[in-house]
Order: sequence, then C-alpha cells, then structure tokens
Amino acid sequence: MMETECLFCRIVAGEIPATVVRETDTTLAFRDINPKAPVHVLVIPKEHYADVVTLTEADPGLAGDVLGTAAVVAETEGLAADGFRLIFNTGPYGGQEVFHAHAHVLGGEPLGPMLAR
Ligand code: AMP
Ligand code: ZN
Repeated sequence: MMETECLFCRIVAGEIPATVVRETDTTLAFRDINPKAPVHVLVIPKEHYADVVTLTEADPGLAGDVLGTAAVVAETEGLAADGFRLIFNTGPYGGQEVFHAHAHVLGGEPLGPMLAR
C-alpha cells in the first residue's frame, strides 16, 4: 500500500484528525475512534510498516520506541496500577484491519478473558 493511501500515515501527516495523547520523534499515540474499553489508545511508528513483524525485522529500535510510548501512555492514562492489555493484531487470523503497525493500549476496567470463545 502506498503511504499516501494509508489511514495512519494520513493521521501522521495531519490529513485526518485524531485525538493525540502523546507524540515523540518516532511515534504517535491517539485515541481509537471506536473504543473497546474506557481507555483505548493506538500507538504507531510514524514511519510506515505493515505490521509489527515487518516493523521489528526492519527496525527493532523503532519497535522498542512503540513499546516505550505504550508504556508511558499506560502510565499517563492511569492504567499502570491496575494493569492493562497491549495488543498487536497481525494478519487475517489476528483480525488486523489497518495495515500500518499499531499497538492497542486497553484498560480502565477489568478486560475479561483474553479471547471470546
Ligand atoms: P486493527 O483491527 O488492529 O487493525 O485495529 C484498527 C483500529 O483502528 C480499530 O480499533 C479502529 O477502531 C481504529 N481506527 C480506524 N480508523 C480510525 C481513525 N480514523 N482514528 C482512530 N482510530 C481508528
Ligand atoms: Zn502507514
């Protein structure tokens, strides 16, 4: 996918609005438009990679930056004490819908079992 056609690249470029909660030189964190929990923030690398595997293979330091921003967001959103969930949906079986690598930071209430069965 061309970066110009990628939803999250367009958010990074400021072409689509988002509620940004944290920005670093290399990452952006913004609220999910369809929150699945009281706190639901997406953390992305500003640079386009299709998924977390591609990102980590190409630039492990940048993958670490995404984890670092996720950790800071969990702290600033008040999730650190009670805990939270960090999810990278990957590929079709993982239910990935947006093919720009992103971590979901979810919390604010007990999240229940990891998977609905
Ligand atoms: P995934 O299924 O892991 O690819 O997750 C994609 C996430 O992006 C979903 O939770 C969507 O609700 C979220 N999303 C889609 N469009 C936007 C948008 N414009 N701003 C913020 N979040 C979005
Ligand atoms: Zn992108």
